[in-house]
Amino acid sequence: MTAFRSHMDVALAEARAAATRGEVPVGAVLVGPSGDIVARAGNRTRELSDPTAHAETLVIRAACAASGSERLADHDLYVTLEPCPMCAAVISFARIRRLYYGASDPKSGGTAHGARVFSHPQCHHAPEVYDGIAATEAETLLKGFFARAGQPPAPLPIARAPRRSCSDRGSRS
Ligand code: ZN
Repeated sequence: MTAFRSHMDVALAEARAAATRGEVPVGAVLVGPSGDIVARAGNRTRELSDPTAHAETLVIRAACAASGSERLADHDLYVTLEPCPMCAAVISFARIRRLYYGASDPKSGGTAHGARVFSHPQCHHAPEVYDGIAATEAETLLKGFFARAGQPPAPLPIARAPRRSCSDRGSRS
């Protein structure tokens, strides 16, 4: 047994680097079975014009591509913020062993909040989850970023679908 060593400091460095690129400061690190870092990334949604380019998903993609497998058994993921429902699903599909995250995300998180992907009956694999790792640093980064940016990104105007009520849908007339 090797002693537990947190890799959250590297994830935080990736989050800081993301902030300097104008991205929401979230960083992730994937650690392989030997305890070595196999992938590290920060958010790149703006740079790549890709809404799926969250740090967690990027490191999983990179490690899967490098290993030639869509599953990463015995891999552990460190991420500075509670994963969103999309990333939580990716973590489950990739069979990640342990998830360590920093700040809690009541607005957009999907593990302890919202969809709670890992406790859903449809979830076929749930990692062990450890939260609150270096949470204060992760939160400070996020708060600083949004304070400089003015506000959290405001939702863009929603293209309005024609309004329909439930009764309209059921109506046959
Ligand atoms: Zn995500």
